[in-house]
Amino acid sequence: MPLHHRILIGLVLGALAGVLVNIAAGDAPWVEAINSYVAGPVGQIFLRLLMMVVVPLVFATLALGVARLGDLGKIGRLGARTLVYFLLTTSLAVGLGLVLTNGLEPGAGITEETAAELLETYRGQANLRLEASAARDFGIDTFVNIVPRNPVQAAADMQMLPLIFFSLMFGIALTMIPAAKARGMMDFLEGLAGVVTKLIELAMKLAPYGVFALIFVVTSRFGWNVLGTLGLYAATVLLGLAIHAAVTLSLLLRFAAGIRPRRFWGHVREAVITAFSTSSSNATLPTSLLVAERNLGIPPQVAGFVLPLGATMNMNGTALFEGVTMLFVAQVFGVDLNLGQQLVVVTLSVLTAVGAAGVPGGSIPLLMVMAASVGIPGEGIAIILGIDRILDMARTVVNVSGDLTATCVVARYEGVWDAHRADPSGHAPVALESDSNG
Ligand code: ASP
Repeated sequence: MPLHHRILIGLVLGALAGVLVNIAAGDAPWVEAINSYVAGPVGQIFLRLLMMVVVPLVFATLALGVARLGDLGKIGRLGARTLVYFLLTTSLAVGLGLVLTNGLEPGAGITEETAAELLETYRGQANLRLEASAARDFGIDTFVNIVPRNPVQAAADMQMLPLIFFSLMFGIALTMIPAAKARGMMDFLEGLAGVVTKLIELAMKLAPYGVFALIFVVTSRFGWNVLGTLGLYAATVLLGLAIHAAVTLSLLLRFAAGIRPRRFWGHVREAVITAFSTSSSNATLPTSLLVAERNLGIPPQVAGFVLPLGATMNMNGTALFEGVTMLFVAQVFGVDLNLGQQLVVVTLSVLTAVGAAGVPGGSIPLLMVMAASVGIPGEGIAIILGIDRILDMARTVVNVSGDLTATCVVARYEGVWDAHRADPSGHAPVALESDSNG
């Protein structure tokens, strides 16, 4: 059976098993034991196998992507196109979120008691997350910190923006030294990228089990009753994400990238499932690169440039979620945000989506900082924490789909790709199945 079918089966079975166990046994000790000793560790090992390759992958693909472009003019043009695309689509996503939240008013139905109760339950967790995050100092230093003092340290702490900055500069400098001297380093980077790709293929062989375990842990522990209280809010976020993916991204795919959306979605499903089960753009980056190059046929110099940047900077789903959440929390706390303040929410959502780490719940600390800046208590964000994991899975799917869409659009505008280069069979990753013996 092809790998992508097995991954999908792992996802569905894991979700079903988790929900059933949750209904049948709730918080029985044996459920916790399974989660702590079997499902949890299996899921974590899969996640770590993917995370393990992220630092060398980002460094090798970005430096190589830039160096292969060869001259500064091309790099500048590609960079500018990519950033403009990121900003435009992220703003569209937030705008959509705000329109929906203003229309559906999910905050209106939440009573003061419910809000107080939710706040009470999740306040501690919210504060812990903020404490643990560098985001609490969001401000001018956030920009200064993009330039690392020590790239090895940035890599060790998995600070992606500084690592990206270093890798880009490294690639640029590589194009500026004589070709004879650069060759050795280029060969090294190509070797590194090759090895890392092999590691990803190996990790993905475990995906059916890893995905099963990750989903099982979430659904078996999830307090489904929060869905009752926060149902309309969750529905608003999910509706927004669905519209962004099915309408905005699909239109971009059709008209800007020139690929039939159905074909695209068929080609990227491993990345979509990985995003859904890991809730992490960073952990999904390896899989995204694999499907972009193998299934969609995007040239490595574009995929290796746009995807690593996108995994950290382009978060359509997160931005939409942030916009909806800010407005929702404002509605619950009876803070009326006028048009000007809503525009501030749009701007801040776009900026914080760039700054948010591509890890599970990466945007929560930034959301708290952002709340404070429009006059809503930062702690107020605590009321949505009970339901965040589910929304996180969904928004990460949109984040990653946004990155893959960006790659197609940018590659097409660079004149190096069109839909004919996508693997016609649509069943992939090709190499994952064909070279399993070698
Ligand atoms: N989990 C998201 C991601 O990795 C970030 C977030 O919105 O919390 O893309």
